[in-house]
Amino acid sequence: MKIHTDVLIVGSGIAGLFTALNLDEKLSITIVTKSNLTDSNSYLAQGGISTIYNDDDIDDFVSDTLIAGNYKNDIETVYLVAKESKNVIDILIKLGVKFDSVNGQLLYTKEGGHSKYRIVHHKDFTGKHVIDILFSKIQNRKNINIIKNTSLIDLIVENNVCYGEFV
Ligand SMILES: Cc1cc2nc3c(=O)[nH]c(=O)nc-3n(C[C@H](O)[C@H](O)[C@H](O)COP(=O)(O)OP(=O)(O)OC[C@H]3O[C@@H](n4cnc5c(N)ncnc54)[C@H](O)[C@@H]3O)c2cc1C
Repeated sequence: MKIHTDVLIVGSGIAGLFTALNLDEKLSITIVTKSNLTDSNSYLAQGGISTIYNDDDIDDFVSDTLIAGNYKNDIETVYLVAKESKNVIDILIKLGVKFDSVNGQLLYTKEGGHSKYRIVHHKDFTGKHVIDILFSKIQNRKNINIIKNTSLIDLIVENNVCYGEFV
């Protein structure tokens, strides 16, 4: 079987589903995933997602994250993630993710290495909740097609066209 698509996303964890939802709706998007939607690290993640409070918090966030990662982190990526984190949390909330809150204020918790309470969460099954919400949005998007139980073997790029090989 041959499929032509504008965008190919491999994997249906939070990264794959969130990327698909944030791309132009005019693009045809195919998500290929080797198992089913409940089979990803994202689905198992319990604790929550760390975020800055505001731009003044970026340096502390980076420092805490480097401690949590035992300084093995790619520092440029940590800065990028820190800078984008609040915006991404806001997008997730707009999509329908219900992070625990009291009187409209997010309830933060604290995790290893962090000096501040900066983890937003949904009860103790944040990953499952986020995946369920992202998937429910994807189901309403005609331009996104998910192919399950299919594994990427190789990607070949020729003349600016990417060919994916799957089993
Ligand atoms: C038990 C557990 C608890 C965690 N708790 C937290 C937490 O509280 N907070 C936190 O920030 N992080 C946590 N993490 C880490 C977090 O889950 C991951 O960093 C995050 O989910 C990665 O998301 P992802 O979309 O990049 O990858 P994943 O969620 O791992 O998704 C990868 C996807 O790619 C698919 N795939 C892989 N190879 C192929 C292939 N060859 N062909 C087709 N499809 C393929 C997989 O089937 C899957 O769908 C936890 C991880 C685990 C395992």
